[in-house]
Amino acid sequence: MRYVEPVFRPPSEAYSLILQITIGCSYNKCTFCGMYKTKKFREKSLEEIEEDLKEAKLILPRVRRIFLADGDPLVVDTEKMIEILKMIKRYYPDAERISAYATPQNLLEKSEEELKAIREQGLSLLYVGVESGSDEVLRRVKKGVNQKEMVQALNKGKKSGFKLSTTFILGLGGRELSHEHALESAKVVNLTQPDYTAALTLMLIPGTLLHYQAQKGEFSIPTERDIMKEMLAFVENINVKTTFRSNHVSNLIPIKGELPKDRERLSNLLTRYILMTPEKPLPSTWTGPF
Ligand code: SF4
Repeated sequence: MRYVEPVFRPPSEAYSLILQITIGCSYNKCTFCGMYKTKKFREKSLEEIEEDLKEAKLILPRVRRIFLADGDPLVVDTEKMIEILKMIKRYYPDAERISAYATPQNLLEKSEEELKAIREQGLSLLYVGVESGSDEVLRRVKKGVNQKEMVQALNKGKKSGFKLSTTFILGLGGRELSHEHALESAKVVNLTQPDYTAALTLMLIPGTLLHYQAQKGEFSIPTERDIMKEMLAFVENINVKTTFRSNHVSNLIPIKGELPKDRERLSNLLTRYILMTPEKPLPSTWTGPF
């Protein structure tokens, strides 16, 4: 497999075959994101993808799950995506699931008919980085869409038949916008009802604009207690059915449950942790694994 490193995947794709169909992220402007800063965006050709599939088949004759990388593979045009999915089926007819990262822009740029056609060819789960539901936070981190567009994008994906796994970043609004960030993020969950809702914790990555802003004092780094309070407000305001996870490497404590059924249990747990958590700022530089 000719991977162009670094390659990222969600934790739940740890045992999947990673098939890189694009290199980098076609957007690559979010101020907190350092994932693809070293890569110049390009699409892999059908020939390159087939070479990778041939090689993968020799090493892994059968796979259950396939994850399409890099940051927003859904950006490739619909005809090409359908060709890629047909090719995957030729090599791995028994694969049970094909998934990919997708940006809200990817979903907005394609028509519902195009998305349905892609869904019918086997791509079934999309991981969408929502990050925040707050218009102001989305604007400050240059996500490229506002709350209304984010909701439109997610609902379009759902209506086209995709399962959606969404991620939000605790602490992304800094101390100043913490409460708004929590409430507006819960609002987006309520308006879109994603199958999975994940809450990560902000990691300030050297080389990103947000890291630079934090170093200059232009971004107020939340404390660990702020993060826990934010998660409590987020959980307490989600009223729709979604599988909630906050067990990423970035999180202070692992939390999971089914909302709204487990809300009281999660709220009690978080309240206990808030009392125990010091008013200590998050690290101003992330040095751990990504
Ligand atoms: S967060 Fe997603 S959309 Fe934004 S730059 Fe990173 S990979 Fe691209």
